[in-house]
Amino acid sequence: MAHNRKSANLTGMAQNEDHSRTQQQLPGWLQKQDLTEADLPYIHGLLAGSFGDWLEEADGFPWLGGQIALIHPDGTTIAISGSDDGDAHPFSRRADTWGVTAATVALDTCRPTLMRSEEHTTHALRSYDSIAVPIFTRSTGIPCALLASLLPAGEAHAGELKLLQAAALHYRNCLYRQFEHIFVGGMLREQKLSQREEKRRDILFDVMRRLNDHIDVENVLSEVLDSLEQLYPICRADLFLSQDYNSHNEKVKPLAFHLSNMDLCKQAFLEGQIRESRTEDRHQLAIPLSGKQGTYGVLRLDLPVNEFDDADIRFLSLLAAAAGTAFEKAKLHEQANVLIGELRLINELTQRLNRSLKLTDTMQFASAELLNIFQSDFCCIFQYDIQSGQFIVMSSNVPEMIGEAYATEYGFCSVLWSTKEPIILSDYRSATPVSSQLMDITHSRSLLASPLLLNGNVIGAVMITKREANHFSYDNYKLLQVLSAHLGLAMSNATLHAEVRRMVITDNLTGLFARHYLNERIGRKQLRDHSGSLIVVDIDHFKRVNDTYGHQVGDDILTQVSGIIRTSIRDTDIAARWGGEELAIYLPILSLEQTERVAERIRHRVESETNPQVTVSCGIAEWRSTDERVSVESLFYKADMALYDAKHLGRNRIVISE
Ligand code: GH3
Ligand code: MG
Ligand code: MG
Repeated sequence: MAHNRKSANLTGMAQNEDHSRTQQQLPGWLQKQDLTEADLPYIHGLLAGSFGDWLEEADGFPWLGGQIALIHPDGTTIAISGSDDGDAHPFSRRADTWGVTAATVALDTCRPTLMRSEEHTTHALRSYDSIAVPIFTRSTGIPCALLASLLPAGEAHAGELKLLQAAALHYRNCLYRQFEHIFVGGMLREQKLSQREEKRRDILFDVMRRLNDHIDVENVLSEVLDSLEQLYPICRADLFLSQDYNSHNEKVKPLAFHLSNMDLCKQAFLEGQIRESRTEDRHQLAIPLSGKQGTYGVLRLDLPVNEFDDADIRFLSLLAAAAGTAFEKAKLHEQANVLIGELRLINELTQRLNRSLKLTDTMQFASAELLNIFQSDFCCIFQYDIQSGQFIVMSSNVPEMIGEAYATEYGFCSVLWSTKEPIILSDYRSATPVSSQLMDITHSRSLLASPLLLNGNVIGAVMITKREANHFSYDNYKLLQVLSAHLGLAMSNATLHAEVRRMVITDNLTGLFARHYLNERIGRKQLRDHSGSLIVVDIDHFKRVNDTYGHQVGDDILTQVSGIIRTSIRDTDIAARWGGEELAIYLPILSLEQTERVAERIRHRVESETNPQVTVSCGIAEWRSTDERVSVESLFYKADMALYDAKHLGRNRIVISE
């Protein structure tokens, strides 16, 4: 229907009509609503409906003998009153079959018309007089219907025509009552729709604003689901995400393609389009959650049939688009943060790892860091020992594991050894073909392990475990892979450093410590201990050995004597090559008598075990914290003096400094 038209010029009968009843009840604007020319093709139903109303109201009306037909301006007979057999009535056929009658003339002239039987051009109508009254719209003044009746010939008079005119007025009232009823109903429906639309727009605006405020994925997801709940309280909403993402929201689930009830979601995800399915009582919608870079998941809504209309679906697509973009933004932000976090972590770790070159310190630090980074319960760092061909536990927060050695064919070490790839294990208990002492001792179920590689060779391994199953994520796996590269480097650096240091403090020929190392150690001990003693050992007439057997044999003798010394002292004693063929042994906190016994054992063994046979002379000195002067130099000086005395007293003997 056309609405809000300005009143057209009032013509015809309408202007004389008494509207007092409706005028009192209806607001002016509603009265100005009227049918227009454009509405006419669509008013058949309205005409028929109001004709029914009229017949009910007109029951008992002092009525004409004939039946009354309601005719549309296009000539269609809408209804005929009081006719059980409407088809038999001459007016039941289309107007163009009637020839000239009052009805056709009234349609043409827009005036009430009375026509005598003899004026009818169609033979079948010659036995009737006809009367017809056009009905005009109330403000636009166009004919919108016609009431017509056939009376037996000679019975139509001005009185009958007046009666029909009265009937027409009455009918028009009924028509407009129904028109207003329909019009108001339609308006209310539209108002309701537009209110809903407005509410949707408000919510959408609100949601978009809030979505844009959130830069964390979790909040974006909650926002979307909460908004849906608010909008469609009877609807069940689930969000399926395709990514490796653990949400705390129970409505967020992984998108599992293999499940049969996920077909709709799968289609929506793959096609990036909304998909719908309806059963008798349920309506399901799958809306892809897409951003600029791809589709991240599917929003699935499930609700009773007939709850969604097209506007809802348009609205939901807009919401999903906003959510997809916000999700993408949050995800990118999160990834950037993770990346920054990882870089910072790697940077810190490598700095810390390289701060100390002592292998055990470094690995202990690494172990503590890994426990923290991966929120895990246990950690174990292994070093591959080339000599034994085994993995040795360098550091672990499981005390039983420290120092343990494992063959390269055992447990997860064997997997790392052969694949050179990290391992992620979600549940050790669920039929893992590998047995692991670490997992057994610690009752762990989740494992993350990585080989430590250097130039493509496995030089160690790291294992991190958690008691709960499914603890580690793929992101963890990737992070450990990166960290392992740095750990491997740190391990190799520390090992190399230890090797260089060992070379620096060791005398090449004898395998004893170098002189500077002995000096350092004695210096440090003099700061801590209360006393200590020193034996200086010098091979007698060594020049002669060289002269007699050559330098090669001389070197060999030096090595023999060094061997005797090494096997004659405790682990805590420090034996060094002092220079040339002079050797020295520092014995922490040992009394002079005990020291002399050690020296005597050495002297005796050299004399009896060397070949060619040589002897040694020893000078012994001690220091006490109570001495007037405590220094490495004075200790050596005293021992040297005693040695000098031993040489002068005939060699192959021991002299203790005064
Ligand atoms: P004394 O009993 O008085 O100690 O006599 P000596 O010949 O051992 O004493 P001296 O200090 O005169 O000579 C030490 C010799 O030791 C001189 C040097 O040729 C030899 N010598 C020092 N270092 C080495 C070495 O590394 N290898 C060999 N083969 N000889 C060495
Ligand atoms: Mg000598
Ligand atoms: Mg000498």
